[in-house]
Amino acid sequence: MAVLPLQSKLPDVGTTIFTIMSKLAADEGAINLSQGYPDFDGPRPLLDRVSHYLANGYNQYPPMAGIEPLREAIARKVESLYGLAPDPDTEVTITSGATEALFCAINAVIGSGDEALLFDPCYDSYEPAVTLAGGSCRHIPTLAPDFRVDWDRVRDAIRPNTRLIVLNTPHNPTGTVWDESDIDALRSVVADRDIYLLADEVYEHVVFDGRQHVSLARYPDLFARSFVVSSFGKTYHVTGWKVAYCVAPAALTEEFRRIHQFVTFTTATPLQYGLADFLADCPQHHLNLAAFYQAKRDLFCGYLRESRFRLAPSAGTFFQLVDYGAISDEPDTALARRWTVQHKVASIPVSVFYEDAPDQRYLRFCFAKDDATLERAAAVLCRL
Ligand code: GLN
Repeated sequence: MAVLPLQSKLPDVGTTIFTIMSKLAADEGAINLSQGYPDFDGPRPLLDRVSHYLANGYNQYPPMAGIEPLREAIARKVESLYGLAPDPDTEVTITSGATEALFCAINAVIGSGDEALLFDPCYDSYEPAVTLAGGSCRHIPTLAPDFRVDWDRVRDAIRPNTRLIVLNTPHNPTGTVWDESDIDALRSVVADRDIYLLADEVYEHVVFDGRQHVSLARYPDLFARSFVVSSFGKTYHVTGWKVAYCVAPAALTEEFRRIHQFVTFTTATPLQYGLADFLADCPQHHLNLAAFYQAKRDLFCGYLRESRFRLAPSAGTFFQLVDYGAISDEPDTALARRWTVQHKVASIPVSVFYEDAPDQRYLRFCFAKDDATLERAAAVLCRL
């Protein structure tokens, strides 16, 4: 059968590193500290509420923007955390994962000839979405050891066709967390320019050592041009549910929904009702998340202090970067594979998140794992 050839719109895109490394870990029977997901379950009352709705007839299409109780619960939460009171009817949209929200927001603002600014190393779904929207990306590298944004470089990178800046704080994969000085610099960069902001804040509750998450929902002037995205997958340890949301001013949400309705239309009904109940019943749940993951970070890093790795500071997320330069000169992609096969611990190479990978030697480990798993993995890593 001669298949009609297809010209790819994403010729440079392969299978994501998360899929590759998780598959290799499974094939090799390795401890999987690569793809970012917990190896423990979400809170039992949440699972019970979803089971309840699944068993009791909540299985048909919900409204396109998401069910009202969930949008209302999100609006209340955003107000209590960040002082912004979004209108649940016109400014909050439930999506099938943050990935969908990012895709819709990017497509809402990027058109042919537009440019988006990305900070490398960056999450791998941003650029393909920009490309499919007909735009292009300008990458601004952030570098070891602290991976902070160089705002002079950002100012130099702005062009008349710069339409969007995508930011991610707390940051995957580096674990950096923006502070007020970043917000001030961002404000000065976008002032008097038609540049929108897409804030990927899926790790909003996972910030360590007493830091505060600087959500763009805190700053009315910046919010006026922003799409703010978060994900229940991270907050409730249920990454496989793919339920997330986007908060944006009404005019931006209108365009966002125009796209969302034809990408997924909506998101699984029983999950939405279960989440709405859980947010109402346990509104404090997320307050423990930072301490929970900080303890895991400290445990994992405590073990690794005996190793030859140099640890980058992890100020948030559930990821730890390690510099392996004292152990090997091998490129990180080859090394991550080899160690998965030989030593049975899987990680993510960081170079794949750069347009032009700098001369750095970093792997990313996910510490959203049971303490016993972290101990077993660390015992292996300390022998390298
Ligand atoms: N965000 C997760 C990570 O960084 C992976 C998500 C995915 O597999 N697409 O590991």
